Amino acid sequence: MFKFLSSEPLHQPLDAPTPVDETTIKCTTCYMCACRCGIRVHLREGEDGPEVRYIDGNPNHPLNQGVICAKGASGIMKQKSPARLTQPLLRKAGSERGAAEFEAISWERAYDILTTRLAHIRATDPKKFALFTGRDQMQALTGLFARQFGTPNYAAHGGFCSVNMAAGMIYSIGGSFWEFGGPDLERAKVFVMIGTAEDHHSNPMKIAISKFKRDGGRFISINPIRTGYSAIADEWIPIKPGTDGALLMALLHELIRTDTLDHAFLKRFTNAPQLVVLDEGAREGLFAFDPNPEKGPPGDGRNPHNKLVFDKTSGQVLNAYPEGIADGCDPALEGHYTLADGTRVTPAFQLLRERVASCTPEWAAAITGIAAERIVALAQEMGHAALKQAFELPIPWTDAWGKLHPTTQARPLAFHAMRGLAAHSNGFQTVRALAVLMSVLGTIDAPGGFRHKAPYPRHIVPNYRAFNSPEMIQPNTPLNAAPLGFPASPEELAINPDGSPIRIDHAFSWEHPLSAHGLMHNVITNATRGDPYRIDTLMMFMANMAWNSTMNTMAIREMLNRKDDAGEFIIPFVVVCDAFQSETVAFADLVLPDTTYLERHDVMGMLDRPISEFDGPVDSVRVPVVKPLGECKPFQEVLIELAGRLKFPAFTTPEGARKFTGYPDFVVNFQPQPGIGFLMGWRGKNGDEHLRGEPNPKQWEAYEQNNCVFQYHMPKSMHFMRNWNREYLDFAKEKGWRQKNDPVQLAIYSDTLQAFRLAAQGKSAGRQPPEHLRARIDTYFDPLPFWYAPLEDAATDLGSYPLNAVTQRPMAMYHSWDSQNAWLRQIHSHNYLNVNPRTALAAGIADGGWAWVESQWGQVRCMVRHSEAVEPGTVWTWNAIGKADGAWQLAPGSDEARKGFLLNHLISEELPMRGTASGTVSNSDPITGQAGWYDVRVRIRPAAPDEAGETFPQMASMPTVPGVVGKAAQVLRYFAGGKKS
Ligand code: SF4
Repeated sequence: MFKFLSSEPLHQPLDAPTPVDETTIKCTTCYMCACRCGIRVHLREGEDGPEVRYIDGNPNHPLNQGVICAKGASGIMKQKSPARLTQPLLRKAGSERGAAEFEAISWERAYDILTTRLAHIRATDPKKFALFTGRDQMQALTGLFARQFGTPNYAAHGGFCSVNMAAGMIYSIGGSFWEFGGPDLERAKVFVMIGTAEDHHSNPMKIAISKFKRDGGRFISINPIRTGYSAIADEWIPIKPGTDGALLMALLHELIRTDTLDHAFLKRFTNAPQLVVLDEGAREGLFAFDPNPEKGPPGDGRNPHNKLVFDKTSGQVLNAYPEGIADGCDPALEGHYTLADGTRVTPAFQLLRERVASCTPEWAAAITGIAAERIVALAQEMGHAALKQAFELPIPWTDAWGKLHPTTQARPLAFHAMRGLAAHSNGFQTVRALAVLMSVLGTIDAPGGFRHKAPYPRHIVPNYRAFNSPEMIQPNTPLNAAPLGFPASPEELAINPDGSPIRIDHAFSWEHPLSAHGLMHNVITNATRGDPYRIDTLMMFMANMAWNSTMNTMAIREMLNRKDDAGEFIIPFVVVCDAFQSETVAFADLVLPDTTYLERHDVMGMLDRPISEFDGPVDSVRVPVVKPLGECKPFQEVLIELAGRLKFPAFTTPEGARKFTGYPDFVVNFQPQPGIGFLMGWRGKNGDEHLRGEPNPKQWEAYEQNNCVFQYHMPKSMHFMRNWNREYLDFAKEKGWRQKNDPVQLAIYSDTLQAFRLAAQGKSAGRQPPEHLRARIDTYFDPLPFWYAPLEDAATDLGSYPLNAVTQRPMAMYHSWDSQNAWLRQIHSHNYLNVNPRTALAAGIADGGWAWVESQWGQVRCMVRHSEAVEPGTVWTWNAIGKADGAWQLAPGSDEARKGFLLNHLISEELPMRGTASGTVSNSDPITGQAGWYDVRVRIRPAAPDEAGETFPQMASMPTVPGVVGKAAQVLRYFAGGKKS
């Protein structure tokens, strides 16, 4: 019998290990998911140089401290994947997109084709080049490339991932969860997790939760599904998808009704006491301010800062800062007042109180499915943890107005939330409600609560203004503003004089004004329709847009292959850069073979998304531990090469010579500001400066010698309250993380949103939305959080489609990346639709039976699993386990293709809308453009007996493309001392 089928253990841990002289160890950073754990790659000399023998966690890495998950350990099988591409490929003349008929070409030819095409676009109409990327970790470079090219049509995956979480929190508290901040479980007593999949912030979160639970912390998970994190929570509170906002508003109702609030925090550190104008007109709903600019802190050119409060002690209206917070003052949180000029005003908190008055637990119970009593008890539990279990740390700090706080106030109630809140068309306001809930309990950057990670907090609104005029797009000229940003007013939108969108994805238009991460999910549809114009070249990196990274998958595949009346492709040229033979590769005109994460340099730094810890900034790198397979090149190198050939100013001298020899050289020497670069460790000529300093030619070596990570420990006085911490704000400005050292007052009330609403109401001068969008802006740009039903509900016959349908990433696979992985596909090779037994039996569907799942947009056939771990009104499945036949080099007829399925076929990328040119609008949040993945409504019915056995839809098998590694990878034997077979 083969040993792997025997009952004997495969591996005897007490046996002598492989002799150390057989292996070398190199440290780098994992990329089997987006968490960026430190890993040690064990290498042994093979026929073609070092080959990967084993991967384990790096015990000296601050993020994962040696912990590794199944995905991380399986990186070796990604390296050995049969789906690896190895050569540039050109679609054969006359072949259809999707047929995957290619010829292998040289890199020189690939560069020639691209350079000629892109140079022409750049010299004529740069916006006809669109660059969109998936879950890459190099947006500082891709964004710079697009900006230097001069195209606004750039974004990464955020618009279809969690931009609602990022934008909703950043516009409210200046920071957000995961890469930007998180729960302080070291000090929390109660931890509430809402809408978070089990692989999110994976190893670090699991390490923290295990310690938190061992220390006696109470963990509550609110989620429609009880898997992963919810399964190990002390309490699971099931909730209907898309209703989290109603729960949060009811919790706010209870906290305010019972006066369970951190009054001192609200008065000093938020805009709750600031006076809002009640009189109708151009200032209506905005903060009143002292017109004398010298009577307050300098404004940022976007919003006046010298706002007003009513001091209950003196009975006078005072400038909010510094008069209103002087000792003895008591800013009012409630009441109605009149300014000297007769203007009627009220504190922002009064408006919040009025807003939540009708959001009773009974109201929320009918929406969420959570009993009113449980909502009341949950509010009490939260309030008790934050206020009654509070303690102080003996850490003195000084606030932005010079007041010394002898201790730091802990608020041991921590939250964590992610895509379950975000991926709805009501997600932005839901996330705003969470931010306000956290703020009224004083848990922002407090011990035991939410904590920022450098370079956060940002200003509210962050000083990143996107381009805002078609005049800024000029031939052979870089954009003089970034393609992406954070608009603070209608004047910062990317619109034409008639109010129509400038960008191909309609981001930063009146349809989705605050779309800070773009709307990748609408690019192909809009480009095919020519709305607002046709493009020439679409370049995609790590984005499986012909399969799981798109809604309405079959239609998108058809669009990629659609031709005009002259027989020409409507999207003339499609470039796909990927390391593997994904479904999207079949639709490319040009395929550029990328490297794996073990074969290249990468940077997770302060210009993008560093891996910072709560106590200080951390950045990290990847270094090549094996040489690239075949002719694979890192996409970074491709961009640097193209930037040189196209003579982008940031990449070439005025004489046309290249500034950088390649990506590693670029990382070391590129400086957006003097002394600031991609990496902050070991700067200065001698490598003895940190955070800021001259480029160090030996910076990569320094990272390699230090576990590929740089960690800076800030003094304790800068660990907390960083929105207002004078020492930290000065430090962050000096290090280039912020433009100013102003405090970041929490936006309980958002005057930014009100500025858009005033435009929609025709009350402000300046840009106005088109008529058909006025009511939409007026409704959703509410300065206070509120709950509304997901937009798809209004377009759906809810009687016919009563069930919510959602997906989750499994713990063992990251999006579509891992079905090619010989080890991981043993865990998931197909997926089921998980249905509460009550719901399934009512529909006549047996456990394990085949069923049709139908939305108004499409249908799939799949297997059903009865599960008590889902609330009865919701059905769910794993994301991206289903694959197109033949893709990823899976054998034809593999389980992934025959039994696996995608829910994406049931989800539309658009909803009907009157007034737009197409009669549609993106199926997204009307504020941010976040894709409404989890809004779809479905019904289920049993499949007929002759329909069982295979999922629907099926498609023609994707052939093997030239140069792909092919065949099932050699499976290595990992017995101690064993040789590869
Ligand atoms: S959680 Fe796992 S897959 Fe993700 S980076 Fe860490 S080790 Fe890698």
